Amino acid sequence: MRLVTFENAGPTAGSVRLGLVVGTAVIDLAARSKNAGQVVPYFSSMAAFLDAGDEAMSAARAIATDAGPGLRLEAVRLLPPVPRPGKIIAVGFNYRDHAAEQGIKPPEAPLIFAKFTTSITGPYDPIVLPAGDPQVDYEAELGVVIGRRGKSIPEDRAYDYIAGYLALNDVSARKWQFGDKQWVRGKSCDTFCPIGPWLVTRDEVPDPQGLQIACRVNGEVRQSANTRDLYFGISTLLAYISASITLEPGDIIATGTPPGVGVFRKPPIYLQAGDVVEVEIASVGTLRNAVVAA
Ligand code: ZN
Repeated sequence: MRLVTFENAGPTAGSVRLGLVVGTAVIDLAARSKNAGQVVPYFSSMAAFLDAGDEAMSAARAIATDAGPGLRLEAVRLLPPVPRPGKIIAVGFNYRDHAAEQGIKPPEAPLIFAKFTTSITGPYDPIVLPAGDPQVDYEAELGVVIGRRGKSIPEDRAYDYIAGYLALNDVSARKWQFGDKQWVRGKSCDTFCPIGPWLVTRDEVPDPQGLQIACRVNGEVRQSANTRDLYFGISTLLAYISASITLEPGDIIATGTPPGVGVFRKPPIYLQAGDVVEVEIASVGTLRNAVVAA
């Protein structure tokens, strides 16, 4: 299933809804369940849906198999599918060739860092350049969304804890990232984490480590790789992180970016107002964000 958080343009404009994309239609899950005379609080938001786990997934799946007409996908505004996760955990240097382009060896253990959740923005919303750092860059990444609370998750059960996947752009202000002693300011500016366009459930992506991943700026390919080249795989990351940090439904893990980022090009090239950045992951979807001045 492709799950979305959306705002309708029609009579319910302004209200944030949980939906299911079926073909070119969006099914409003709360409205559909109301039609059936049921009260289902887990259709009220993505957070409630993920918290409810298998029960909510099964109920949505039942609706998906008999969806009927919905809203036109192009007529609604897609918001970030998980508007406010508990946390975003990102992974540095996680493609061998991305480490190589910086002249370093991949780390011996995953290098994790945080992006504040206020950096999240929608799949087609603008990336706003912050005043004070002219070196803003893209990072195409596969995002993993947690579907079940877990601590000390064993590697061989890691996928049981995954709700699904989304495309993610780990936008980075390089002057601040490398100039501050911590990366968090440069990684957490408002609008620096476009996600979506939907959450694709785990069952629809049987091999998340075999997906083409690309970043384009104004149509020009800047990154092109495959998630099979992840240095630390998804199950290793979940086990490593959850050994000391509880993972909760809705948490997002940004699995790292392949080579081709702007900062390590010769000469470096940074995002400018007027650019359009696309992050495309096969079987998952495409983000398209315009870059605008502060
Ligand atoms: Zn990154």
